[in-house]
Amino acid sequence: MRLTVDPSRCRGHAQCVLAAPNVVMLNDDGKSQVISEIVDAAYADEARTAELLCPEEAFTITD
Ligand code: SF4
Repeated sequence: MRLTVDPSRCRGHAQCVLAAPNVVMLNDDGKSQVISEIVDAAYADEARTAELLCPEEAFTITD
């Protein structure tokens, strides 16, 4: 699984960071940043949850 985030859509709500702390972090600009674009299988559910929760639809998941 690959997870990317579009920083131009991110509004810094941080729901994703709370839901997926092993997958996403906030950078110094207060925007979401993926910890690793290739998501460890152990954290796949976190990545899906972050993607679903983001009100700005900033995440994209691909295989
Ligand atoms: S939930 Fe969406 S808008 Fe909010 S910080 Fe995460 S990626 Fe950005």
